[in-house]
Amino acid sequence: MRIQRLFCTLLLSMIAQPANAQGTQGLVRITDSVYQYIEDHHRSLVIFGKDEMAVVDPLFIEESKKFAAALKRIKPKSRFKYLIYSHSHSDHIEGASGLVVEFTPPPIIISTKTTKEMTLKDREPTVLVPSETFRGETVLNVGGTEIKLIELPPNESRGMLMVSIPSEQTLFAVDFIKGKTVGYKDLHDYDFPGLAKSIEMVLKMDFRTILFAHGEPGDKAQVKEQLLYWSDVCQWVAQAVRDGKSLSEAQKVIDHRKYKSWYGFAPWYDDNLKGMYRWLTSGAVLKATACSVFKSEK
Ligand SMILES: [Zn+2]
Repeated sequence: MRIQRLFCTLLLSMIAQPANAQGTQGLVRITDSVYQYIEDHHRSLVIFGKDEMAVVDPLFIEESKKFAAALKRIKPKSRFKYLIYSHSHSDHIEGASGLVVEFTPPPIIISTKTTKEMTLKDREPTVLVPSETFRGETVLNVGGTEIKLIELPPNESRGMLMVSIPSEQTLFAVDFIKGKTVGYKDLHDYDFPGLAKSIEMVLKMDFRTILFAHGEPGDKAQVKEQLLYWSDVCQWVAQAVRDGKSLSEAQKVIDHRKYKSWYGFAPWYDDNLKGMYRWLTSGAVLKATACSVFKSEK
């Protein structure tokens, strides 16, 4: 399976592929300045300016050499200026050390201040610690292309940022919104009010395309769909709690049709219900109004 995957990856990364082909691997063109590097179900963001480039999330260390080769093939003379961490989860950043050594001079590694703190705390041997941090918002110039990094409230993790490329009308969102994908396992560490607030921040932005770290590119309608998913799950679980049902009883009676086609449904949907049940029965929320956080203002 692994050999087959490697073969497909090598073959497909020889040339940049069209953006929406299911199963595509390697470097994929979105616009002239924006690409995504795809490894299995993980996607990073690449921004090319005139003579410089930036990468958001280096992904896995096993992929670093292929990732670097693909970047050099598309823009051989481009200076790798910034490596940006979206957040501290290792599946997005463990490849930093492998990618950085392929470039001279190496890029500046930048993240939110919280992500740097979390990277230091949970440090795995291969993960490099960011050398520059920010709070709130910062704007970077990558060979004349402006990219805006926007810190988000705690959502799927703490310290998360999203990326806006205004000239391309494009956003990049990692893990807190995904393309037609349910939440991860039992939503461990999810901050639901912060998640809702983060999605609202996205809906208030001006963009044409939203790229995800998991799932195909989408638009504002897809972001609203994600908010609706959380609203549905919250309301369904809240109703079961009000009816005095246990978790396993709730998992039996709650709708299993509406989101059946989404990625991750079979392994994680029942776990998503479990995570929501845990939140709604934790005593930390006002049960009557808890789900109102997922009501879109737009
Ligand atoms: Zn994550």
